[in-house]
Amino acid sequence: MTVLGLAILITGTAGASANFSHLVDNASADYFSRALAASSEGDHQKGLAMLKVLLVPRTNVRVDYSGLPTSVAEEFRQGVQSGLRMWRDALGSDMPFSLTDRPDAQVTIRFVDSIQGHSHQGVDCKGEITARRRIQWGPDVHYFEFAAQISIVRFREGRTWMSSGEIAHITAHELGHALGLGDVQQSGRIMGPMTLGRPLSALTQDEVRAVQGFRASVRFEIERVQSKANLTGMNGIRPRIGVPIP
Ligand SMILES: [Zn+2]
Repeated sequence: MTVLGLAILITGTAGASANFSHLVDNASADYFSRALAASSEGDHQKGLAMLKVLLVPRTNVRVDYSGLPTSVAEEFRQGVQSGLRMWRDALGSDMPFSLTDRPDAQVTIRFVDSIQGHSHQGVDCKGEITARRRIQWGPDVHYFEFAAQISIVRFREGRTWMSSGEIAHITAHELGHALGLGDVQQSGRIMGPMTLGRPLSALTQDEVRAVQGFRASVRFEIERVQSKANLTGMNGIRPRIGVPIP
């Protein structure tokens, strides 16, 4: 009886992935599903590493202002700070990103002339994030690492510098990707295309709820997988040493 009850409980919670907001991108939802699948197959440590990296650990963000005139650097600095503030206001103490001057920051933001090979409905892309999740696991341990490079185009049209408001919108947009959101087609959201001269200064309610909901689901599964891992303990299924997944 007990075993049957447990099995039903696990099946019930594994279906939680279907409840994500449509604003959560497919890649994040897919990674979440793969983490649960790893745990179902007995690789609890792999599942934990995947889930924890999906949550994004406490992460330092460093901004490279080199090559910018002093006045522009100050505008951009305010823009980046405002972009981070949008997410801090939304997530409070659960905000994983904080600005730093440390050279070993896991996330770097730099300003570029253009982003090659990217256009969205004929409009050149103004920002880009390349994130890397790295995990390792063994029978009783797991490690994970999150790193990203964010590029922001510094000119709007011609040689006019982006405004601090535009830098804020693009910063918040790229961090939104890091937190699991995908692009949306309509403007009016931080994750939608930005209209030059009319940047948004706040996240929408549904964007905030999408990230909060996603993070709550990931946390729920971390607890669940952790308790399964504790039960399995040293007598775990066959020991396996994992290789990093790029
Ligand atoms: Zn985007």
